[in-house]
Amino acid sequence: MASLNVLILVCLGYVVLLFGVAFAADRLAAAGRSTWLRSPLIYTLSLSIYCTAWTFYGAVGYAARSGLEFVTIYLGPTLVMIGWWWGLRKLVRIGRSQRVTSIADLISSRYGKSNTLAICVTILAVIGVTPYIALQLQSITLSFSIFAEADPGSHYYEGASVFWVAAGLAVFAILFGTRNLDANERHHGVVTAVALEAVVKLVALLAVGIFVVWGVAGGVGPTLDRIDASEIGQWQVDRGRWATITFLSAAAFVCLPRMFQVMVVENDDERHLRTAAWAFPLYLLLMSLFVVPIAVVGLDLLPQGANPDLFVLTVPLSQGQDGLAMLSFLGGFSSATSMVIVAAMALSTMVSNHIVIPIWLSSKGRGAVVSGDVRSVVLYARRVSIAVIMALGYFYYRLSGGGAALASIGLIAFAGIAQILPALVGGLFWRGATRIGALAGLTVGFVLWVYTLLLPGIGGEVMPQSVLDQGPFGWGWLRPQALFDIAGLDPMVHAVMWSLSLNMAAFCIASVLSFPRPLERLQGAQFVNVFEHSAGPRGWSGSAAQSEDLMIMSQRILGAREAQEFFRAQTVEQGGRGGLPEPTPVFLERLERELGGSVGAAAAHAMIGQIVGGSSVSVEDLLAVADESAQLLEYSSRLEAKSSELSQTALKLREANTKLTQISLQKDAFLSQVSHELRTPMTSIRAFSEILRDTEGLGLEEQVRYSTIIHDEALRLTRLLDDLLDLSVLESGQVNLNRARGDLGDVLERSVSTALAGWSNPLIVKRHFSNERIVLYSDLDRLGQVFINLIANAQKYCDAPDPELTITVHDVWGQIMVDFVDNGSGIPSDAQSMIFEKFARVSAEKAGGAGLGLAICKEIMQRLGGDVSYLSGKEGAAFRVRLPKEERAAM
Ligand code: ADP
Repeated sequence: MASLNVLILVCLGYVVLLFGVAFAADRLAAAGRSTWLRSPLIYTLSLSIYCTAWTFYGAVGYAARSGLEFVTIYLGPTLVMIGWWWGLRKLVRIGRSQRVTSIADLISSRYGKSNTLAICVTILAVIGVTPYIALQLQSITLSFSIFAEADPGSHYYEGASVFWVAAGLAVFAILFGTRNLDANERHHGVVTAVALEAVVKLVALLAVGIFVVWGVAGGVGPTLDRIDASEIGQWQVDRGRWATITFLSAAAFVCLPRMFQVMVVENDDERHLRTAAWAFPLYLLLMSLFVVPIAVVGLDLLPQGANPDLFVLTVPLSQGQDGLAMLSFLGGFSSATSMVIVAAMALSTMVSNHIVIPIWLSSKGRGAVVSGDVRSVVLYARRVSIAVIMALGYFYYRLSGGGAALASIGLIAFAGIAQILPALVGGLFWRGATRIGALAGLTVGFVLWVYTLLLPGIGGEVMPQSVLDQGPFGWGWLRPQALFDIAGLDPMVHAVMWSLSLNMAAFCIASVLSFPRPLERLQGAQFVNVFEHSAGPRGWSGSAAQSEDLMIMSQRILGAREAQEFFRAQTVEQGGRGGLPEPTPVFLERLERELGGSVGAAAAHAMIGQIVGGSSVSVEDLLAVADESAQLLEYSSRLEAKSSELSQTALKLREANTKLTQISLQKDAFLSQVSHELRTPMTSIRAFSEILRDTEGLGLEEQVRYSTIIHDEALRLTRLLDDLLDLSVLESGQVNLNRARGDLGDVLERSVSTALAGWSNPLIVKRHFSNERIVLYSDLDRLGQVFINLIANAQKYCDAPDPELTITVHDVWGQIMVDFVDNGSGIPSDAQSMIFEKFARVSAEKAGGAGLGLAICKEIMQRLGGDVSYLSGKEGAAFRVRLPKEERAAM
């Protein structure tokens, strides 16, 4: 009897071998020496993951229980391979041209890249496949336990072994399934390991079969006799079940995520399908050849109640054939592990691409796509998804407690996965199929599948018996296994019939009633007419008419002359004299590279793809395009910043220029003003001095009058010149400020008395002395000059009958303001902004200065760091002097 330890050693050795093969295949592929890895044989063998442990062990059990019905499981895929290979070819072509990464991706691409649909398919797949993974784990454990039972000295812990098997498979899938992201990059390591496992399981099953027929039964004749004698030969065939299960297995063969992975995603060359179309049915035939003999002999040999699911193991063991049993164990182990690894890989791609990444992207916002760490996040997401899926399978196994409940899961899973079929096939052949239709069909099918098959079939009393018998709330027509009161059907047939027919009905009706979006239309056309559009399995190809379009596009990107030169060179190289080059794959690839230099590789690929139609834009393309456009955007925004800087400089120059012109105009105006102001007093001085000189006999009184005028005018002249001098000193910034400490009240007091001195009827000044007790540190003379000017203005211009001036000091948070408000009629609002200009006077007739006073005030306050402004809204004229903050000296 083989000890458990030997078995574990063999098993570990086998795993190491698998790792080695996968590793070597990956290395070969990386080195570019992968020709034989891409052979049709490997492709065909990799398809054999269809045969899981459920088929390896289960087919014999199935035959022992239900006779020939097990054949349906092989019949479905055979029919698909032989009878529908053109459909598969279309699937593979689309998969390649659209760079599809999973079945969820395919469905979502077909229906306008809808992520909702992808999520639906992903969820359906996870729910359908998780129990199936659990089933594989169970089969490994069961086969271990067979050896453990036969080896009494062993210490075998079922729970621990499942855990380690699951963990090991997760590590394998992560190591070889998530090396890179590129949809074009095949997982050579995994596929080669799977192909090796396919050989092992076939050899194992054939060996057991040959042993049973020739070693136990004694040849073909006696075996046939045994079959005739057994119950299996007599079993009635239920036609409904036959048809249903054949159909189901056919549907599952196309729709199972793991099958899609090896058949479409991992496909290297469309022509491999041609080989697989006959070789894979042959493989299935060999796999099923000895199922019945093993079942019959097992039933004969082994005691009543022995689990027929394990006959493949127990028959050799019972005959003392330890080596054979070990081989058989490896066959079952291979079936289970290859399925689990590929399924976990396929599901993880779906989960990460359609659930994890969209959530991550939306939580990160746009910046994430630009920053370029997407790739590593995607890889992490896939790895974590694999671990999570394996954990789900493991926990499902632990929770369901294994046992018979799991055995029925295979078909239940098939029925669930088959719900994808209407959306898939409809999408391939019917342009009118829409996203809403697909969603409706999937939802209806999924709900019915869960209700009529999954919940009743899953065991563990998930669905109460009362609901099964009387329907929910006693509604008989809603009984899960007799919908609409159609009772008496086999539960499987019933569930498949209702779920798929209503699924199809919902799909068709909703498609007809809904309106496809533009992208859906486009994708629909690309899918349905893939053979007209696409460029074949490898590279680009186009028609001569497309050269014209390519030329036009290239001219726009490369520039007219460069594009023409490039095209001419290519024509010459192709051996032509003139005209355009043929759009051969070589030419198109070069053009893509040439354009890629200008617009980025992804964008170039997408652009050429748009014209020759060989490939449409995948998510990876879009990410890459987004990446590139982000770079372009950054570059152009830098350019934009530069150009706006330039235009700002230009604007500043223009402003400076206008200012200069204005200043020059002002200077002219100023000069003419000054000469005018000077001439007026000069004229009267000259006139009166002439009178005094030339007029004889002038009376004394007149002499006094005239000389007073001359004196006054001379004074005015002096004042004017003083003011002008003052202003020019202030404006040129050559003033020296003599800052000193002093009291604001005192400055005001001095200013009032100076301003009003000499007036016969000085105006009344109102003040709040208490507010004026503020110590300043400033040029007090200059400040006083401003105050004097304002007070004198009020004296000169206030037109009230009883002129009055109120001086108020405010202190708002350390900001000192002195307001001068009189009770005259004030300054009209249109003149308010202008009075601070030089020579600005509101009314010329009024006796007054040359209009320089306020201009000087403004200059002084500016020098002191404060300002003076007109306060509109008061009744009379109102001015506010704002002292700078630091003017206030510390007490
Ligand atoms: P000036 O030095 O000739 O007095 P200002 O620059 O001080 O000139 O004042 C400009 C003009 O503002 C004056 O011609 C006058 O019309 C007007 N103005 C100034 N203060 C007052 C006031 N308190 N009431 C009415 N008008 C005033």
